[in-house]
Amino acid sequence: MQGEAQVDYRQTEVAPDVYRIDWSIGTKPMASYLLAGDGIILIDSGLPDTPEQVYLPALEAVGSQPEDVRLLIITHADADHIGGNHAVRARFPNVMIACHRRDVRWASDPDVLTTERYDGFTSYGLRYDKATFDTLTGWMGPAEPMDLLIQAGDQIRVAGDDWLEVHHVPGHTPGHLALHNPKRGYALIGDAVFGRSQLDTAGKWLAAPPYDDVPAYRATIDHIRGLQADLLLTCHYPVMRDEKAGAFLDASVAWTNDAASFVAALLQESAGPVILAAAIEQADPVLGPYQNPRELQWALRAHFEELVSIGTAQHVEHDGVIAWAGT
Ligand SMILES: [Zn+2]
Repeated sequence: MQGEAQVDYRQTEVAPDVYRIDWSIGTKPMASYLLAGDGIILIDSGLPDTPEQVYLPALEAVGSQPEDVRLLIITHADADHIGGNHAVRARFPNVMIACHRRDVRWASDPDVLTTERYDGFTSYGLRYDKATFDTLTGWMGPAEPMDLLIQAGDQIRVAGDDWLEVHHVPGHTPGHLALHNPKRGYALIGDAVFGRSQLDTAGKWLAAPPYDDVPAYRATIDHIRGLQADLLLTCHYPVMRDEKAGAFLDASVAWTNDAASFVAALLQESAGPVILAAAIEQADPVLGPYQNPRELQWALRAHFEELVSIGTAQHVEHDGVIAWAGT
């Protein structure tokens, strides 16, 4: 992880009254969304300076005022999606901030998010270095409470009879949300699915799909496919339409199958218990290679845990850390 937010950005109307703003953090591509209707809805708050550097000019470009922003929907609790929550509240006096119940603790407090999510691998023998923690800390402003907790089945009116349906799409985080607009044929899916890799700004493979729960992630891919949206809008990938969206979902499933096979074979072939660091090292050339192999920690742990839950693997202690062995 690296880099400062780049303020150079591009604003595109990807569907009627749906504005996508492309920007980047170092080589990490970012897409923010502004929905214009009876007032303005923003999707994710980005970093602490995103409200000022990205959303204010975007509002101006559509002829709206800061007072017109009525809702910020947090797709999920990750630093680059919640970091600007406090600044959004400060900049947009009429805003209400919403997320899913299952992400609310992380989305409301960067300290809790850091301790429980980013520093959640110590018992597996892994911990980010100080520079990474400093980067993540720099991506998040002060804690900011939510105003609304939303869940699957809720409906949010954009304008007239134009509504967003709220969908629960866990896997990357437990409370990840997607917003489907059936009338206009688009689905805003945030970081719910990842294909075979997260990409950098040049389209090169950056890091593995970071899901934390295999059955949930697989169900999410199916769920999003079932929406049959013509237009798939994510936060870190180019705009995808029709066959491209289908191919992205296919690649997402294929990668989970490859990761599952890899983990099962690794357990079978290992003479002793497997620790997460060793699994990452062996997985990277097979499933990647990735610029940031360490991020394989999420999916690999999830696949080991899936085997534990079905009884073909077990936890064992190895040099003071949690490792896995066959049963
Ligand atoms: Zn994320």
